[in-house]
Amino acid sequence: MKFEQPRLPYAIDALQPAISARTIDFHYGKHEKTYIDTLNTLIEGTPFADMSLEEIIAKSDGKLFNNAAQAWNHIFYFFQFSPNGLKAPSGKLAEKIDATFGSFDDFKRIFEEKGATLFGSGWVWLSADKDGELHITQGANASNPMTDGLRPILVFDVWEHAYYLDYQNRRAEYLHNLWQVVDWDIVSMRYE
Ligand code: MN
Repeated sequence: MKFEQPRLPYAIDALQPAISARTIDFHYGKHEKTYIDTLNTLIEGTPFADMSLEEIIAKSDGKLFNNAAQAWNHIFYFFQFSPNGLKAPSGKLAEKIDATFGSFDDFKRIFEEKGATLFGSGWVWLSADKDGELHITQGANASNPMTDGLRPILVFDVWEHAYYLDYQNRRAEYLHNLWQVVDWDIVSMRYE
């Protein structure tokens, strides 16, 4: 299977000022695209060509794992944003966030802190385990919590390429501003 880069469900400048059009142009247009192009090159003519992206992530390592996971992670990242989305979780996820972290504000503070303190490149994730319990985890480089049996709900990209054009070294400010564009309708549905 050849993987196609999905088109963004919003305009390139729709997430400003939290994420600039220039950052989307590089991050989605070049970084994400390159991971998907490289993935397609690596799987061509191999048994991986008939697998889903999730299967490839589960069964590969090294360069193939890195590009498959980065493709998945970036698609998941860009599809959780919207300029006019719901600004707070709803339904079961809202209840579970309050029960687990105290309040939505406490959750956001802890999530930002986990992103800010991750050393080097990686991702900060909110995931659910098989019992529906929520976990915030830091993942280095291309890692994805699916390989630990968790179901991803929300992710912030903390590679420098995600924020350097807009925020330079101010990673914490980037993480804080991302809440402006997270669409909790989409994120809450991922938990249902
Ligand atoms: Mn990225």
